[in-house]
Amino acid sequence: MNTQKIVSKMHSLGIATNTNCTFANLTTLGVGGTIALVVYPSQTKQLVSATRYLRRNKIPFYILGKGSNVLASDNHFDGVVVSTKNLNGIAFDGNFVTADCGAPTAKVAQLCVAKGLTGGEFLACLPASVGGVVVCNAGCFGQCAKDIVHSVKVLHNGVVKTLSAKQCNFAHRNSIFKHSNYVVLQVTFCFAKSTPTQVSHKIQWMKGQKAKTQPLGAKTAGCVLYNENVPLSKLIDEAGLKGYQIGQAKVSKKHAGFVINIDKSASKDIYLLISYIQRVLWERYQVTSQVELNLLNFDEATNDIFSIHQTGNSQNSSPS
Ligand SMILES: Cc1cc2nc3c(=O)[nH]c(=O)nc-3n(C[C@H](O)[C@H](O)[C@H](O)COP(=O)(O)OP(=O)(O)OC[C@H]3O[C@@H](n4cnc5c(N)ncnc54)[C@H](O)[C@@H]3O)c2cc1C
Repeated sequence: MNTQKIVSKMHSLGIATNTNCTFANLTTLGVGGTIALVVYPSQTKQLVSATRYLRRNKIPFYILGKGSNVLASDNHFDGVVVSTKNLNGIAFDGNFVTADCGAPTAKVAQLCVAKGLTGGEFLACLPASVGGVVVCNAGCFGQCAKDIVHSVKVLHNGVVKTLSAKQCNFAHRNSIFKHSNYVVLQVTFCFAKSTPTQVSHKIQWMKGQKAKTQPLGAKTAGCVLYNENVPLSKLIDEAGLKGYQIGQAKVSKKHAGFVINIDKSASKDIYLLISYIQRVLWERYQVTSQVELNLLNFDEATNDIFSIHQTGNSQNSSPS
């Protein structure tokens, strides 16, 4: 990859760049190898131009929001990471809120308090960007992105278009955006009218519950495995795996579904631990599990480790 040429192109588009970054710096798990180039568009039109350019020139790239649902390998990534962190506009129109893909979901929730809009309180509890929450159909307390998305503006095959919520094919922690070359540009949410006090109380209650049950200060990426029909955290706990450790990777004692990077863990230890949990779930309970995290920059051999004890394939996002 001709990094200097891409840097020049990005600068000509007014896009900031960094050639000295790692996935460990950009993800909440704090693991993952070096990256040839990270770019930071700050306007939607820059995101469109940059990703069109990268695709046209067959340069491998990943889009990264808050990096809170990603496990990147320890390998060097000879490609471009497009960080959405500088794309954070949020606009209100009655019950509708349109946010840029990099806007923190917590900011959307916080602004909804003042407007007395209800339905998006759970967004306050996710360390997510608006793009990431829609791609992953993330949620908690019985709600998920699917319940509040009105439409999503995307770049797909070079064309900017708007998809209705139905067209997003939302499923459990899944959407159309995980399986094809979509760049989520903006999301329009639809909320219901309430009062600032009620919305605020609901958020405080949800945050309190999260703090009681999840290791919020630790380096994690949320629940690492899922099975739509079986609560895996309970089984992982029953199997005695809380606190189980490989290298610097450890199953949280507070929430058995979470894996923690204690300090400077290798990505390898995180994925070995996840695959060990999968094996225990299978051998003790004959329960299959899928990796909930988005796997970036893994090779096929590593991918195979995850597919042994699951019904479908693990999702190793290929570079877009
Ligand atoms: C402490 C903690 C608690 C959590 N609790 C929950 C929970 O309760 N419920 C839950 O569902 N999840 C939870 N998560 C996981 C995570 O926060 C969510 O999955 C979140 O939606 C990920 O958003 P993100 O911006 O971090 O996305 P990232 O991790 O940056 O990206 C996730 C995927 O989306 C893609 N992507 C991101 N932005 C775009 C874009 N603009 N266009 C195209 N693709 C894009 C990335 O390439 C990647 O494949 C938790 C994580 C942590 C660390």
